[in-house]
Amino acid sequence: MARIVQVLLPLPLPEAFDYAEPDGMALEVGDLVGVPLGQRRVGGVVVALRDGAGHNRPLKPVLAKLDEPPLPPGVLAFIAWAARYSVDAPGAPLSIALRGSRTPKPRPERRLVATGVQPGRPTPARSKLLAAAAEGPLSPAALIARAGVSSAVVKALIDEGALEVVHEVIAASFAEPDLDRPAAPLNPSQAASARALTALLAAGGFQAALLDGVTGSGKTEVYLEAVAALLRDEPQAQVLVLLPEIALTQAVLARFEARFGVMPGEWHSGIAPPQRRRVWEAVGAGRCRIVVGARSALFLPFRALRLVVVDEEHDGSFKQEEGFIYHARDMAVARAKIEGALVVLASATPSLESLWNAETGRYRWLKLKARHGGAVMPQIDLIDLKATPPEPGRWLSPPLVRAVAQALARGEQAMLFLNRRGYAPLVLCRVCGEKLTAPDTDSWLVEHRYTGRLVCHLTGFSMVKPKTCPHCGATDSLVSIGPGVERVEEEARSLFPDAAIAVFSSDTVIDADAARGLIRRMEAGEIDILVATQAAAKGHNFPNLTLVGVVDADLGLRGGDLRAAERTYQLLAQATGRAGRAERPGRALLQTYAPEHAVMQALQAGDRDGFVAVEMAEREAARLPPFGRLAAVIVSGADPEALETYVRALAAAVPNTDNVEVYGPADAPLALVRGRRRKRFLVRSDRTVDLQAFLGAWRARVRPPASVRVTIDVDPYSFL
Ligand SMILES: [Zn+2]
Repeated sequence: MARIVQVLLPLPLPEAFDYAEPDGMALEVGDLVGVPLGQRRVGGVVVALRDGAGHNRPLKPVLAKLDEPPLPPGVLAFIAWAARYSVDAPGAPLSIALRGSRTPKPRPERRLVATGVQPGRPTPARSKLLAAAAEGPLSPAALIARAGVSSAVVKALIDEGALEVVHEVIAASFAEPDLDRPAAPLNPSQAASARALTALLAAGGFQAALLDGVTGSGKTEVYLEAVAALLRDEPQAQVLVLLPEIALTQAVLARFEARFGVMPGEWHSGIAPPQRRRVWEAVGAGRCRIVVGARSALFLPFRALRLVVVDEEHDGSFKQEEGFIYHARDMAVARAKIEGALVVLASATPSLESLWNAETGRYRWLKLKARHGGAVMPQIDLIDLKATPPEPGRWLSPPLVRAVAQALARGEQAMLFLNRRGYAPLVLCRVCGEKLTAPDTDSWLVEHRYTGRLVCHLTGFSMVKPKTCPHCGATDSLVSIGPGVERVEEEARSLFPDAAIAVFSSDTVIDADAARGLIRRMEAGEIDILVATQAAAKGHNFPNLTLVGVVDADLGLRGGDLRAAERTYQLLAQATGRAGRAERPGRALLQTYAPEHAVMQALQAGDRDGFVAVEMAEREAARLPPFGRLAAVIVSGADPEALETYVRALAAAVPNTDNVEVYGPADAPLALVRGRRRKRFLVRSDRTVDLQAFLGAWRARVRPPASVRVTIDVDPYSFL
């Protein structure tokens, strides 16, 4: 018998399936193939081939070898690793890796070629046209433009047989970066870090570095220099830069374009399918050397990945929480290890995990202490809301209002930061007290005034704001509780009617173009007050922004989960770091009811190290990450009885293992989402324990009924 082909399919199946290799197909590991599955034909990837001699069971044959670039070995190894780490089926990460191949290949395009036949009657126009055509196949329009002749000349030469129409598939490619363009001047601290990164690249093999620099210290320039050195030294080398969100991608793309004269490949959910296909193909063929993208770019078929940069590495958006659950920062380190590449984690407020890896010497620690170009860190002051509260129904306290007025009077810009989308986070009936929620979910509906709708931010459910209470039927009884950015904007407009005010949130900045437009207006000084959620707290440089007011600094501390304090510190340090990034000094004001809290004290003192030391000590005492491992097992189902029965069986089947504790089951904080009830187990283990093996073995002990779903979240971030 012919060879046996193991094909992994992008489906939730535990393993690859065996097929027979038809005569003459000559498959190799990594090839994309079409295979039968039941009555369907599906596309998959060849992960292994073995001799079929002595194999008696008849196998279905592979139907076709697809005309696609094969997946390189590094991607296959990465997919296997990612699936094991996340305790999920390998088809889940494979599905992400094949996303770029799902759009049909581009259609062949018309090209004109000179045949060598001389036209009967030579004219200057005809000669020019033939000379242009001799340089290579061009589209009719391009040829006409190059020769400067009319389309009639083209038609005549085709009729005479001097030009021939061919159809060509244009290979996806990106222009080579121009490495001779001048670099921005670096300060000594930047130059030292750039040299260190270049040396790590030259040494080769897997390496990890933490690029730790205060906001405004110029981390991007540092890694741009490392990219330039790498591309110069290794003509095949590829680079991936991961960013937590699309708005930031645009800013970094522009920096790369300015530095290398070409646009890098762009990869995120907002990219149209044909463009996505172009990047996927060009990366796989080695014709795209720089990719800037969101977390799923990690699964692109790089052939010679030598450098991965994770910018704003502390950012929670790197955690993918639906479908295949993974943290892109941790996966970036894994992919770099598999490829023998350098991974650079960059942040002004690194995660405790990365700081710990740097402290223990696993990561090279590169520090940028000073702000770039002599700018100083903003002065941070706390506004005690108990002492100077805003007027009733208002959210900006008198000291903050005064500071905004002073900034505007000096011709400078102010940012009011509130990490809450919409107008009000809660709508309540003052007759019956009902809090409005989505019909099948426990989370509150958020009022959006721009659209007049009530929206569930968890599931996306939305409805027109009703005139009467859906619960008791009372008229005009619904009141908006608490502020969102839209409400702060309303207040700012009433206080500063002559100021130009804009809102930066994911509702107002819905795509890359909108983000670019708003950033440009802010840079050009066309906006006086920017009311912003965390979408604007990252990365952007606004030279004339000198005041940042944080409307509710306590917001993130109320969640009470493992990372609440860390996240609050990071977010507020980033937000306040927006102020005073050029010559003018910046100031940040934090409105808080808890000025004595460790987070507020550390922010005011600019004492990140002090904050980290306290937080690390608490984690170590509780043996929580990074001093231990943590996973959540979420069990959900629409049928409460089936769910309860299964959860009880699962609780009784916890494997008896040393240094592992299982807590729960507890109702998830939002027990009901999309009509499904959810219960959660938390699993803590020491770092020496193979937590994935434990989770896999535990889950395998009790098979869930069809109505119950079990989701494993390794290193959980949000506990919704
Ligand atoms: Zn009511």
